[in-house]
Formats: sequence, structure tokens, C-alpha cells
Amino acid sequence: MNEQRTTAHRLLVLGAGYAGLAAAVQLAARVKERADVTVTVVNAEERFTERLRLPMTATGQHVADLNIPQLLEGTGARFVPGWVTAVDADAKSVRIDDDRVLHYDTLVYGLGSVADTASVPGVEDYAYTLSSARDAESLASRLAQLRSGTVVVAGSGLTGIESAAELAEQYPQLNVVLVGRSEPGAAMNPKAKAYVRSALLRLGVEVRSGAEVTKVLPDAVELVGGESIAVDAVLWTSGTRVSPLATAAGFTVDERGRIVTDPTLRSVSHPDVYAVGDAAAIQQRYGVLHGTCQSGMPTGVHAAVSIVRSLQGKQPKPFRFGYYHTPVSLGRHDAVVQFTRPDDSPRRLCLTGRLAARYKETVTASPWPTYGRMKKMPTSGAFWPRGGRFTRRQVAR
Ligand SMILES: Cc1cc2nc3c(=O)[nH]c(=O)nc-3n(C[C@H](O)[C@H](O)[C@H](O)COP(=O)(O)OP(=O)(O)OC[C@H]3O[C@@H](n4cnc5c(N)ncnc54)[C@H](O)[C@@H]3O)c2cc1C
Repeated sequence: MNEQRTTAHRLLVLGAGYAGLAAAVQLAARVKERADVTVTVVNAEERFTERLRLPMTATGQHVADLNIPQLLEGTGARFVPGWVTAVDADAKSVRIDDDRVLHYDTLVYGLGSVADTASVPGVEDYAYTLSSARDAESLASRLAQLRSGTVVVAGSGLTGIESAAELAEQYPQLNVVLVGRSEPGAAMNPKAKAYVRSALLRLGVEVRSGAEVTKVLPDAVELVGGESIAVDAVLWTSGTRVSPLATAAGFTVDERGRIVTDPTLRSVSHPDVYAVGDAAAIQQRYGVLHGTCQSGMPTGVHAAVSIVRSLQGKQPKPFRFGYYHTPVSLGRHDAVVQFTRPDDSPRRLCLTGRLAARYKETVTASPWPTYGRMKKMPTSGAFWPRGGRFTRRQVAR
């Protein structure tokens, strides 16, 4: 399939995750009345992947079926299910499933990130990941077969903590071992970190900090120093990587393959391309944004607003974002919410226990209704903390 040339301005959004879908809904809502602009969204699945709930999916819990084409109904945006296999920056085209070609005038690149399965031998072959709903479902199938045994969660970051807690709570008959270089909650204040530690202990998770997996085998993991742990399943949550498509397309990328953007979220090498979410390297005064849903949705909204301003002949504004919290679930009834400064450093304030669990659930459930609201009223999605002095641009004297 090769699309016919039209005179309309073609906006093409790649990836309908937290960031790409925010961009798509915003664009569709904001150009709805314009006959000279089209919006097309490409995504691997029709179903929206709530990545924040993947530890639940991986432990066999039911999560809602959220349908992207249904969400886009009435907006005029076209949804194309399929897998993007190449982007041709010169021809301004995108190949889908190798045999379809879509052309664009402006591209929003939001293909997200996946677990880094390439850095340690055996991970690709023998470990489970939470890169997609399908990956999480395969772990759920494996766990359903186990009456006893050991599951190692490799990586003591937030995904590792949430996954270990969920596993231990749902499968008390299994030994859950959380292996990582740093202590769980290392970036939190001492009170929040201690709470994480005691919650994991209460759930029966064995925490192995200062440890590093060097190899994954079919029935064991090897650690630095030569120790080996016999396993029945390994969940890999250590590190992320992005699709190689941006590098292959010739876009300027950082050392991790993320598209380097200017302050308006445009690619520094290809001004007709905007990058959002985990796939983008977005500089703020305090550093490059790290992948979160918290920052990803605002990048999608801002890219859409920038594009619409450009179409109107106006100058796009710089993107500013400040972090405000790190909510971490510890099973279904417990959590920690670490409030943060805009640069993501921890404040003294944190919530714990049931109140924190309710807070976390509210945050996790909020993106989908937010998209629904933005469809009708795009300005409703344009509020997020801008980061104050942490993101204000310094004026040269
Ligand atoms: C288990 C887990 C828990 C997390 N918990 C939190 C949390 O509590 N709070 C938080 O702020 N962040 C959390 N994150 C991080 C957060 O999920 C990501 O930062 C966020 O999903 C990034 O949004 P995105 O739109 O850039 O990418 P994604 O949400 O990953 O979306 C990318 C989309 O692109 C599609 N896609 C990718 N490649 C292709 C292709 N070649 N062709 C077609 N489609 C493609 C994917 O299918 C997907 O729909 C968590 C991540 C994980 C894995």
C-alpha cells in the first residue's frame, strides 16, 4: 500500500503510548475544524498498554481493555494498526509491516522504550520482561504453572520494586528475590527508603543489594563473584533501550539512541520531526528527562501545541517540566509516594500505607480519562508543573 499524495498537511504520530497518544488526541482535537490537515496514528496494538499496570498483568490480575480506535472516534484521526519497520527522513515516509508506506509532512515520534535485554548474556533468551502486555502475559502463564520455586527480579529500580512486591503478594508460595546494584528506593529520602525496605521484608521478598547479574541461564542466574541462584523464572527490569529506527533514519540521537530535541521538542537535525516520551532526549536546565509517564504525557501535549502553533504561523514555545512525585506501589494495599523537587530530587515529604496506595491508584488510573477529556477540551491537558526556577532559562547578561 502506498498512499496517494494529497494537498492536506499530513500529521503522522508513531506510537500510541502515554506520550504519543497525548500528542495524537491533542492534534486531532486542535485541528478538527481544519480540512487542510490530516492526523494519522500508528501503533503496534489497538489496545492501549497501561505500562504502569504491567506488574499486575504479569501476576495474572485483570486490567481494563482500553481501545485506542474507540478513543479516537469522532476526532477525525485515522488509526493504523501495525509495526513501524523504517522511517525514511528524505522521502518523509514510514514503512509499516514492511509492505505499507505512509507519508508525512510532520512526524511525531513516540515509540517509547523497552527493557534492555542486550547488555547481559542470556537475558534475551531466558528472562521475562515487562516491555509489552504480551511479555507480561507470558510471565503470568509461567507463574501459573509454579506451585513453588524461586523467581528472581533483576533490577532494583522502581519497576523492580513494584514487580517484586506484586509477585510476593500474589504468589506467597514462591521465593521472590530482588537483585540489584543499589538498595531499593535508593533515590528516596531515608524514611521512604526504610518504608520500602520494611514493606518488601513484610511481603517476604529477599533483597540482594550490591549484587549484579552477569548471566542468565535456563534455570539459574549468575552473579558477580561467581555465585549462582537456581531459578524457575527471571524477570528482567534492569535498564531500558529504545528502538534503533531513529538512528537508522539519520536523526540526531544521544548515546542511548533517543532523538535529541530543541526546546520546542523538534528534532535538532530534522525540523519536521518532533520526539516525545521515552524515545526523546529532552534537555531541561537540571538535565535530560528520564522516562516516566509523568513527564511523557506533557511532552506529547507540548509537541502537539507546538505543531499547531507552527501551522498557524506562530512561534512554538519552549517545553518546561518539573517532576513532583514518585509513587511506588508495594502490592495492592501499600505504597510509598515520594514527593520531589522539580529536578526529581527527594523532598522530606512522603506518604506511606493505604493512603499512598490510593494516591498511586488514582495516578495510574488517570491517563485514560485525561485523554477522553482532552478530546473534548484540549486545554484541559495543558496543565503540569513547569518547574519554576529549576527550568527557567538563564538570560545572558
Ligand atoms: C512496569 C513499568 C512500570 C512503570 N511505572 C511507572 C510509574 O509508576 N510512573 C511513571 O511515571 N512511569 C512509569 N513507567 C515508565 C512509563 O511507563 C514510560 O515512561 C512511559 O510508558 C513512556 O511513554 P511513551 O509514550 O514514550 O512510551 P510507551 O508508553 O512505551 O508507548 C510506546 C508505544 O509505541 C508502540 N511501539 C513501539 N515500537 C513500535 C513500532 N516499531 N511500531 C509500532 N508501534 C510501536 C508500543 O506498542 C507502545 O504502544 C513504568 C514503566 C514500566 C515498564
